[in-house]
Amino acid sequence: MAKHQFKTEVSKLLELITHSLYSHKEIFLRELVSNASDAIDKLRYLTISDDAYKTITFDPKITVFVDAKAKTITLSDNGVGMDEDELADNLGTIARSGTRTFMEKLSDSERKDSNLIGQFGVGFYSIFMIAEKAEVLSRTAGEDAAFRWESNGKGSFTVEPALREGFGTDIVLHVNAEGGEYLSRWSLEALLKKYSNHIAYPIHLVSQEPKYDDKGKENGTEFKDEQTNTAQALWRRSKSELVDKDYLDFYKSFSGEDEEPLLWIHTKGEGTIEYNSLFYIPSKVPGDLYYPVSQQGVKLYIRRVFITDRETNFLPQYFRFVRGVVDSDDLPLNISREILQQNRVMTTIQQASLKKIFSELESLAKNNSEKYLKFVELFNPQLKEGIISDWQNQKTLLGLVRYKSTSVEGWTRLEDYKTRAGDRKVIYYITGNSEERLRASPLLEVFAAKGVEVLIGPDEIDELAFNSIGQYEGLSFKSVNHVDSDEVLGKTEGGDEVAGKKAVEAAKRILGERVKDVRLSKRLAKSPSCVVMDSDDPTLQYRELMKRLSGVETPEPTPILELNPSHPLIARLATMEEKHAAMPEDAVAAADEEDLACILLDQALLAEGQKFIKPAEFIERLNRQLAK
Ligand code: ADP
Repeated sequence: MAKHQFKTEVSKLLELITHSLYSHKEIFLRELVSNASDAIDKLRYLTISDDAYKTITFDPKITVFVDAKAKTITLSDNGVGMDEDELADNLGTIARSGTRTFMEKLSDSERKDSNLIGQFGVGFYSIFMIAEKAEVLSRTAGEDAAFRWESNGKGSFTVEPALREGFGTDIVLHVNAEGGEYLSRWSLEALLKKYSNHIAYPIHLVSQEPKYDDKGKENGTEFKDEQTNTAQALWRRSKSELVDKDYLDFYKSFSGEDEEPLLWIHTKGEGTIEYNSLFYIPSKVPGDLYYPVSQQGVKLYIRRVFITDRETNFLPQYFRFVRGVVDSDDLPLNISREILQQNRVMTTIQQASLKKIFSELESLAKNNSEKYLKFVELFNPQLKEGIISDWQNQKTLLGLVRYKSTSVEGWTRLEDYKTRAGDRKVIYYITGNSEERLRASPLLEVFAAKGVEVLIGPDEIDELAFNSIGQYEGLSFKSVNHVDSDEVLGKTEGGDEVAGKKAVEAAKRILGERVKDVRLSKRLAKSPSCVVMDSDDPTLQYRELMKRLSGVETPEPTPILELNPSHPLIARLATMEEKHAAMPEDAVAAADEEDLACILLDQALLAEGQKFIKPAEFIERLNRQLAK
């Protein structure tokens, strides 16, 4: 018998799961049934794609056997099985790399969200919430040897040779005090109905029930064996047969999500290529949306046989939040997963599916704007990703994307901006890292004064997205964060230009390398200063996005400082500069002037939400000047 230690990450994870998922312990059954169903999927796929398995015939079946006396629940499947190494590897390590690091980063409340467990391939370990010991007896299809894995979920497990009739896997749970409630037929049946009704293979629940004689007296026991699910591929059934509840239940059992989806799209493609597809748009942002292990949400079936959910990028990356199933009779079953991506039938189905999703979203926007805006709240950044990456569909995506704006409450369309802009052929936008902060930005002062509408881009991806649009129906885009965006606005009145020029001189002399240039501003109404980027320099937001995407750190672009000639602080800086010219040896006056110039720059950076380099220094200067 070989004794193994769990990889440290597994031990750590087991602790996390048992502590934070305690209130969701019933999910163990959903996870085991879904593993069993996957194992059958894999074997069916092998029997049609691999000559070595061609002779294997089997009736897919999952059995749940409960023995209240022995306090065991046994889950059996006749799927692909696991050999000695697979038992040790699959049940002793975490399948997907990065899972543990990810789990550790989550907050307690996020961890409590049981869905994450299913999503990150740690499902099997949920059994230790209700079992003090588990045995896994497994035999790989096509092999004679079977093996038993055993563990109490606390640090180590063993694997030893064993006997099993036929291929497949039995998982025997020795139920602990916590799991006592699952040792009854009715509770298991309720759970199977709740979570696993739409598994495409028959699930049988078997239990030993008391037998009664003619007089109604208990007389021994008998086995009760009933199928608990319909085992039909829901997506192949016709829409008219199905009610909302069917779709909702299927979504829950298939995605592991507890929440109802926002929308589903069930299509039967007929004509030259026949296929069925069922797509769901979730009602919350999937936890793994920005995580590298993010799973492709669309499962591909060919003639009801599950083929893959990982290797094909069935939908474009930006729609990775869409969950669903595609099933076609017109694809060859023995097609390799690699070739699938170049298959013409496959491409046709892909394009048709994408088009269908677009058109459903368009009609939702038109007919149910409340629901559509909910979609926007969740997935607007992904539409923007699409604008950047999918040129072919850019026009459609530009119609679907929504923006916040300085002129209207709530969301607005580019089309509406265009109407409001009238003769002006420019769409102004501002980017940064929070809507609230952007709305308060000094950069917007002159636009507000002149009544010019500016779109707000608080998403990390915004600047890149705006840049890649180029033109929208004859309108060009201009970033308010850039220096030349004030050109079109003409000059604002007021201020003493001579004093202003003195202040500019002072700031240039004192700030030196920290700024690319200092100039008098035409865009400021109330604030003393602001920062803008030179026409060809990327903003700091853009630089941070690039760093995250490519890992490359580009040199920090230096901003241009603009000063408001009508602000008293600027007049003060001018006076100080004059005094400095007359008496350069006055160290106290020089220090005061330096404080003011630095504060003017730092507060402008702060208003833009940019991490300024030395906050302690800023605060010190500010306090020193306030004290005077
Ligand atoms: P996930 O199913 O998300 O990959 P699990 O922790 O639930 O993560 O399972 C780990 C792995 O163990 C699975 O990926 C699979 O390879 C294997 N496995 C689990 N249950 C079975 C089973 N009943 N039959 C065959 N393999 C299984």
